[in-house]
Amino acid sequence: MATVKESSIADRLEALLKLQTIDSTLDKIKQVRGDLPEEVRDLEDEIMGLETRLAKFQQDVADLEEQIANYRIAKKNSDNLIIKYKEQQMNVRNNREFDAISKEIELQGIEMEIADKRIKEIDFKVLNKNDEIASVESNLFERKKDLEIKQNELQVIIAESEEDEQKSLKDREKAVKAVDERLFKSYTKLRDNARNGLAVVLVKRGACGGCFSSVPPQRQTDIKDKKKILVCEHCGRVFAGVEDVIPAPEKEKKSRAKAAPKAEAVVAE
Ligand SMILES: [Zn+2]
Repeated sequence: MATVKESSIADRLEALLKLQTIDSTLDKIKQVRGDLPEEVRDLEDEIMGLETRLAKFQQDVADLEEQIANYRIAKKNSDNLIIKYKEQQMNVRNNREFDAISKEIELQGIEMEIADKRIKEIDFKVLNKNDEIASVESNLFERKKDLEIKQNELQVIIAESEEDEQKSLKDREKAVKAVDERLFKSYTKLRDNARNGLAVVLVKRGACGGCFSSVPPQRQTDIKDKKKILVCEHCGRVFAGVEDVIPAPEKEKKSRAKAAPKAEAVVAE
């Protein structure tokens, strides 16, 4: 009877650990892909914004050039009027008429000066706008290059991991069936709460593989026995076993001792 129960706990832990391994693989696939789709979307948005701005600037330049054309027409009209007035002046009957026409000529001259001044001002605006257009265009060119690179990268990554993902998802379906319902519920809850997605861990070098709190030797023995499902006293993760001790290089040991409890796949290694 006892052996059946023992093996059943061991089996349950094994099933859990298998599920965790698959989920960690899926997490990694998502993690690799994770930022890229968002980066591609951001770039697409940025490019759309730049294109809108470029179109607006180009419209601004067209409007300014139309204003210049209108001032040129006005200038031409004034010029024609002056020619006409000068001819009329040849045929005046008195000084009063001559002076009146002189005033008109003077007025048209002022109109032409004003038009010249406006044209200069608008020309300056066009120059500035064209600078802005050039800068938006070069920005756009760079962003489009970035987008192309990221899109290709994403395509490659998706292509690379799609098969693994599909396989893992199928494996997961099977693995979930092997875990009893109650345990699966706590597993899901633990995974949701854990930042690194680990709900089931091994004891590694005397510490919890999830939160790195030390596990006393007696407890490690109990975990190895697999007579009960034991959880970490600090983080609540389920202990699936104790990792066989492989002597690690000194350097790694030190850095591990100082490292913050960050994501570390239990079984992926
Ligand atoms: Zn822990």
